Amino acid sequence: MTTTNPSPRTISVAIIGAGMSGLCMAAKLQDAGIEDFTLFEKADEVGGTWRDNTYPGLTCDVPSRYYTYSFRPNPDWSHMLPPGPEIQQYFREVATERDIRRHIRFGAEVRSAAFRDGKWWLTTPAGDEAFDVLVTATGILRIPRYPDIEGLDTFAGPMFHSARWDHSVSLPDKRIGLIGTGSTGVQITAELGGKVRGLTVFQRTAQWICPWPNPRVSERTKAALRRWPRLNAFGYWFYSRFVRSMFGVAPVRPGWQRWLYQTQCRWNLRLSVRDRELKKKLTPVDQPMCKRMIFAGHYYRAVQEPGVEIVTEPIVRVEPRGVVTADGTLHEVDLLVLATGFDAHAYVRPLAVTGEGGRTLEEAWADGATAYRSVAVPGFPNMFMFMGPHAPVGNDSLINIAEHQADYVTWWIEQLRAGRIVAASPTEEATKRYNEDMKAAMPQTVWTTGCRSWYLGKDGLPELFPWEPDRYSELLRAPQVTDFEVRTAL
Ligand code: NAP
Repeated sequence: MTTTNPSPRTISVAIIGAGMSGLCMAAKLQDAGIEDFTLFEKADEVGGTWRDNTYPGLTCDVPSRYYTYSFRPNPDWSHMLPPGPEIQQYFREVATERDIRRHIRFGAEVRSAAFRDGKWWLTTPAGDEAFDVLVTATGILRIPRYPDIEGLDTFAGPMFHSARWDHSVSLPDKRIGLIGTGSTGVQITAELGGKVRGLTVFQRTAQWICPWPNPRVSERTKAALRRWPRLNAFGYWFYSRFVRSMFGVAPVRPGWQRWLYQTQCRWNLRLSVRDRELKKKLTPVDQPMCKRMIFAGHYYRAVQEPGVEIVTEPIVRVEPRGVVTADGTLHEVDLLVLATGFDAHAYVRPLAVTGEGGRTLEEAWADGATAYRSVAVPGFPNMFMFMGPHAPVGNDSLINIAEHQADYVTWWIEQLRAGRIVAASPTEEATKRYNEDMKAAMPQTVWTTGCRSWYLGKDGLPELFPWEPDRYSELLRAPQVTDFEVRTAL
């Protein structure tokens, strides 16, 4: 990989997105002494998902001690599981403290990116600009999915997607219709059940709920964490080991971890819901963990509050006054909330990305999205992506994944900067081999046991990592240069 006379170069890096991943990339570049980078952010603030999602009850179900960058502990989390607004505040602070904001262009939506003459040309409303390296950090659950229900547009009251919450609409006086019982719908129900005039939850598929307490962090604990930062580091280590050895393993390998979660879910339902009819409605047919596992403390309590109704009859249409189900009932509601999930398979799209020889990412992914170790695609030199296809987003904290991906990308940028290479992209052969290995390992995962979920890709297989998260960290820790087509001159 070395040239006869490598000479160091200044490398310019374009990062698309200033959410959790983009900020992580920026911080890692700073740590490597690389300051020539620009973040393009279409909104007017950092935070991505945590900026866009503001629904009542929004909480991350990864323990707060682990839902931080390892390089920036936070002694101030109010709860064991971090509330959404605190996470958003955390990212805002990181951007400010590390002086990343001066690298961010807000309101700058990148419309297209094309690789020409050894550079990535980005088109934004301000014009075209060239960079040596392109890093996409556009998030995974970014594009709201609206349900295709007859008459949805005819609803007379306010209606919005959970990721576009309209806070000008008052809630206590409303009869709310909520469509969707994924992680989002469950958190909204747990928060609003019993606190609003009525809550009708339209459940298409029952979900398993894993009970998860969320105690407050006492002021004394926070003071101790501030005083002894090593305590924080220990908390990070402890929870990372806990999450990775339990939640990281359970979905991908049959064993006691899977048994434990599944048993917890079954007993949670058995012990928490007394009414037989309601229990029947809430009993899923799928195996626990086949869909994205839901961790929640108060859901079953909330659905038993007065004024809360679980409707399992399929929705047939929406009318101005409410939702009509297959049994002919019109469920009258004043507000309709669509907690119907996201298009999780868009990745960087709809951004138009064109690689070498004019081949677009759309063409490269015509049969389904694939990548080399979730970060790079053959034919797209010097382009790296966060949370690409098959990242371990189904069994690890996304922040941890982002850190490993950022370190990996930084390693390649350092090769470019040292002048050892001028371009690198994974070979077709290595990418194919990697994806075939993953495909072969999928049947042992719980995700292939027959449920419908956003995890499944075009081929009906989960677009997830079928092994433990530690294995993914290992794969990224040691870049395999022989898997790459590396050029030392253009
Ligand atoms: P989701 O898991 O995709 O759930 C969407 C829900 O909407 C499902 O219940 C689905 O039913 C229902 N639905 C979709 N279209 C429908 C239609 N036409 N009619 C009736 N029901 C319909 O979406 P989400 O709840 O927003 O969660 C997405 C992901 O975000 C989660 O899996 C998780 O990874 C992440 N998340 C994380 C947290 C956290 O605490 N870390 C919190 C919230 C979200 P079916 O099940 O029948 O498809």
